[in-house]
Amino acid sequence: MKSGEKLCLACGLCCDGTLFDNVRLGPGDDATKLKTLGLPVSSSRAAPPIVHFPQPCAALCADRSCRLYADRPLQCRVYECGVFKAAHAGRITFAAALRLVKRARRQADQVRRLLRELGDFEDHRSLSERFRRTQRRLESGRADGAAADTFAELSQAVHRLFLLMHERFYTKADPGPATGKIPG
Ligand code: SF4
Ligand code: SF4
Repeated sequence: MKSGEKLCLACGLCCDGTLFDNVRLGPGDDATKLKTLGLPVSSSRAAPPIVHFPQPCAALCADRSCRLYADRPLQCRVYECGVFKAAHAGRITFAAALRLVKRARRQADQVRRLLRELGDFEDHRSLSERFRRTQRRLESGRADGAAADTFAELSQAVHRLFLLMHERFYTKADPGPATGKIPG
């Protein structure tokens, strides 16, 4: 197995709702076939409509492989995050890239743990969406002291994670977490 494949199989952050909220389909992608294969593809009301499916991706397996590898959409075929690009270009070693991936995964796990402590068990939603929803829920009602402390801890954990994402993972071509998996 190539080093790049090993890195991605240890990571999965661009498929599991950590880096992105959704994947946009392009003109060359067969939305009907992807739906048949189990991806919940839908279209926005914008003109022209944006055809996309949400993350965490329904095709992501427990071992972080892609169940639809041979049929995955174009964005998934061409996407390489900043860490992958740096390792591939020899600017950092694959061992250093793996350390960055493990650090990001630990930080994402901490965010998930804190979300669960605050009553959010919606693992089918992306991390940024879960954070926004939790924030709205706590702001709309009275949070007790313990919940307020946990939310402060969550905000810091989210900030640290997104800082690492922006510093090392997103590339200049990426639009950010809310707008989809866009190739670098
Ligand atoms: S975020 Fe980067 S290293 Fe991780 S799976 Fe995606 S391309 Fe691979
Ligand atoms: S289709 Fe495959 S490569 Fe694309 S987001 Fe889903 S799991 Fe990742």
